[in-house]
Amino acid sequence: MYGMVRSDPYRSLSFWHDTVPGSLAPGDPLPGDTQADVAIVGAGFTGLWTAYYLARRDPSLRIVVCEREIAGFGASGRNGGWCSALFPASLPKLARMASRDAAVAMQRAMYGTVDEVGTVAAAEGIDCHWAKGGTVMLARSPAQLERAKAEVDEAREFGFGDEDLRLLGAAEARELAGATGVLGGTYTPHCAAIHPARLARGLLEVIRRAGVSVYERTPVMRIEPGQLVTPTGTVRARHVVRATEGYTPGLPGHRRAVAPVYSLMIATEPLPPAVWDEIGLAGRPTFSDLRHLIIYGQRTADDRFAFGGRGAPYHLGSSVRPSYDQVPGVFAALRRTLAELFPALGEARVTHHWGGPIGIPRDWCASVGLDRSTGIGWAGGYVGDGVSTTNLAGRTLADLITGTDSDLIRLPWVGHRSPDWEPEPLRWLGLNAGLQVMSLADRQEARSGRPSALAEFMGRFLGG
Ligand SMILES: Cc1cc2nc3c(=O)[nH]c(=O)nc-3n(C[C@H](O)[C@H](O)[C@H](O)COP(=O)(O)OP(=O)(O)OC[C@H]3O[C@@H](n4cnc5c(N)ncnc54)[C@H](O)[C@@H]3O)c2cc1C
Repeated sequence: MYGMVRSDPYRSLSFWHDTVPGSLAPGDPLPGDTQADVAIVGAGFTGLWTAYYLARRDPSLRIVVCEREIAGFGASGRNGGWCSALFPASLPKLARMASRDAAVAMQRAMYGTVDEVGTVAAAEGIDCHWAKGGTVMLARSPAQLERAKAEVDEAREFGFGDEDLRLLGAAEARELAGATGVLGGTYTPHCAAIHPARLARGLLEVIRRAGVSVYERTPVMRIEPGQLVTPTGTVRARHVVRATEGYTPGLPGHRRAVAPVYSLMIATEPLPPAVWDEIGLAGRPTFSDLRHLIIYGQRTADDRFAFGGRGAPYHLGSSVRPSYDQVPGVFAALRRTLAELFPALGEARVTHHWGGPIGIPRDWCASVGLDRSTGIGWAGGYVGDGVSTTNLAGRTLADLITGTDSDLIRLPWVGHRSPDWEPEPLRWLGLNAGLQVMSLADRQEARSGRPSALAEFMGRFLGG
C-alpha cells in the first residue's frame, strides 16, 4: 500500500504513465560518494540509451545514472510517441552547416534509427506497442498542399524517392486518415507509433539488469569536469554526460543553452470499431496536418486518440514547473481541433491531459558531443523530435566515450555547438511572439487558403 501511495504522483503525469505496467515507485537515491567510469545526468531516453549502448559496448564499464525524479519522468515518458525519422534541422540547413552528403547521411541515419529502436525493443523484450505504420501529413488547405509539394520536392533534390516520402492525392490521404477538408498530403513509412513510457521503463529494467546503477530522486546540482554533485554525494567519473534536455537551464552555467517550450497533449477514451472504420488510421500511422503551429497524433494500441500540439506559453527565465503542464485553454483547443479533424469522434470523453517541456536550441539544431578536454558529453536540443534521435545520440555518445571510430561520429550534428539564447526578456518576447504569429498565420491561411508570409518571416527570425 505504501509503495502505491508513493508511486501515485508519477502515475498522474500522463496517459502513458497511467497505463505503464509495473511500479513507478522511485528507486533508491545515490547513497553517498562514489566512483564510476561514466556518470549520466537524467534518465530520459538520452540518458537511458547512452547507458544501454555503453554497457553493451563494454560490460566492464561502471555506469551511474542520476535522475531527479524517476526514469521517464520528463519528455521521454510523456510524448506523442512518434518514433520518427524527423530531425529538427532541415536538409538544406544541414547542407549549409556541413555538406550535401552530410545532410543525406544524417537523414539516412535517422531512417536507420527508427528501425534500431524497434529492433532493440523486440530483442530486449520491451513491449512498447511498436507499430511501424509511417506518418501521414494531411494538407487541408491550398497553402498546406503547396507545403506538401515543396517538402516532397526538397526530398527529391537530396535524392530521396517515393519509398521515403511521397505525395498523396486527396482520396489516398483520406483513405489513410479520414479527416475533414483533405486536399492531399504526404506519406513516409519511416515512423512507428509507440507507448513512450513503456519504452522508457523497459529500458530502465534492461540497463539495471546489465549492471548500470540508476539512482532516482537524485537531483544533480552541478556538473563539473570529472564529477557531478548531488545533495547525497558526489559521483567522480572520467566522463560525465548531460542528458537533461528541457530542464538544462536549471543547471548552473546552462541558463541560456535551450529554451524549454511546452507541448501539451490529450487522450480520449477508447473509441468503438465503428468510429475507427470511419476514421481509418489502420496500421496506426501517426498523423498531423501541415499547419504552422504543430499538431501531432496517434491511434493508441487500445484505440484511443493521443493528440497534442504546441501553443502553451514559454515562461520567463526558461523556468519549468509542474503547473505549466496544465493549460486548460490549450487542452480545450486541442479537443476542438481533434473534433474538427475527425467529427466521427462525437462526444468521446477526454480521459487524460498533460504536457511537458521540449528543448529548443537557438538555431533549432539538435547536437551531441564530447568535450575531450573536460570529459563532459551532452546530447539534446531535439525540439519535438527526440523519441528516435535520442537513440542515435546514445549510440554516438557510446562511440565517442569508448573511442570507437564509426560513421556515426562523423554525422554533422556531432560536436555542433548551438549559440546561446538571448538574455531575458528578449527570449520571452521572441518565443511568445513566435507562437502567436504561427497561430495567427494558421488562421489567415484557413481563411484565405494562401501561404502566410508572416509565418515564413517568423520562421526565419527564429532560425527554425
Ligand atoms: C508533450 C510532448 C510530446 C512530444 N512528442 C514527441 C513525439 O511524438 N516524437 C518525438 O520524437 N519527440 C516528441 N517529443 C520530444 C521528446 O519527447 C524529447 O525530445 C525526448 O524525450 C528528450 O529525451 P531526453 O532524455 O533528452 O529528455 P527528458 O526525457 O526530458 O529527460 C531528462 C531527464 O533529466 C532529468 N533531470 C533534469 N535535470 C536534472 C538534474 N539536475 N538532476 C537529475 N536529473 C535531472 C529529468 O527529470 C528528466 O527525467 C515530445 C515532447 C513532449 C513534452
